[in-house]
Amino acid sequence: MHNDDAEKLYLRKRKNLNADIEEWRKYWKKAGPIRYAEEYLFCPPKVPPHPDWKKLQTEAYCIGCKKIHKKFDKKGVPIHIILPQEHKDFFMDIWKGGIRLVLISAGRGAGKTFDLGIWENWRLVTEDYYEISYMGGSAGQGKVVQKYHDYWRRRHPEVGYIINVSTKSISNRSC
Ligand SMILES: [Zn+2]
Repeated sequence: MHNDDAEKLYLRKRKNLNADIEEWRKYWKKAGPIRYAEEYLFCPPKVPPHPDWKKLQTEAYCIGCKKIHKKFDKKGVPIHIILPQEHKDFFMDIWKGGIRLVLISAGRGAGKTFDLGIWENWRLVTEDYYEISYMGGSAGQGKVVQKYHDYWRRRHPEVGYIINVSTKSISNRSC
């Protein structure tokens, strides 16, 4: 989808929102980032099928979507995010453990940037006056995270309603 079209689509969704947004925010703030990721956020595009999806396929009522749906699509791609246990532990640490300064060290492809995107998105939609800044060397990572936010705010009317401007453009200038 062309960027402008995506922008129009999201503006249309914004108009059609009739959920009680404050109730919605309170609900997901209490539910926390893990449930927010696993029961609300859609899995971003280009995620490969889950290796055991046929065994794990279930159908249940989903609170985030307010309807019954399967855990995986026809190709085995999860509908919502599935977090490995270590990632859940990490979220518990920063959510409930009172940790305020985080230094994440993990191998390439471990999902550091993705976890950051989930955490930021959850904070952005549930906290008042929450802003995110990326500086210096992390600009590349910032762009990746911005893509996640843009995807979620277009796919989810509530997220689109709350995060009405994606992060200000990230410049390419180097210091
Ligand atoms: Zn759902």
